[in-house]
Amino acid sequence: MNNVKRIDYPFLPNNKLIRYVPKDDPFILIAKQFSKKYSKGKITPYAVVIVKEGEVIGSAANRGEYEDGFKNHPVPFAIRDVDLEENPIEGADLYLWGHWWFCQDCWDAMNEARIKGVYLMEDSEILFNKDHPDNIIGRQFE
Ligand SMILES: [Zn+2]
Repeated sequence: MNNVKRIDYPFLPNNKLIRYVPKDDPFILIAKQFSKKYSKGKITPYAVVIVKEGEVIGSAANRGEYEDGFKNHPVPFAIRDVDLEENPIEGADLYLWGHWWFCQDCWDAMNEARIKGVYLMEDSEILFNKDHPDNIIGRQFE
């Protein structure tokens, strides 16, 4: 079961929602490992995997800190990572580990690619939110 939470995101398009998976979800774990290995964000390492029919078809980690802007955000890089001849991206799902919302540019990229499901790890809005007292920023991999 994917629970839909009421979370006050800084941005969320009308008629879109973010679904949540457990911390041990296999695709969230792949995104976490990818982030650990490849993210250039020292404060907020995070990564995206794109999944279709049970297989990862694209992935990317952030190339700088989140606040440095869209050019560092992994969503468009993960979309571009997909080999469209091998794997039509339409209807694929996107999993992000290490952050708790998506900016408008990332939503636009997901909509344009016709990504179907958008998933975060449960409690992301606490664990990866700098403004939450219980966040784990700076010790994400401990
Ligand atoms: Zn973004």
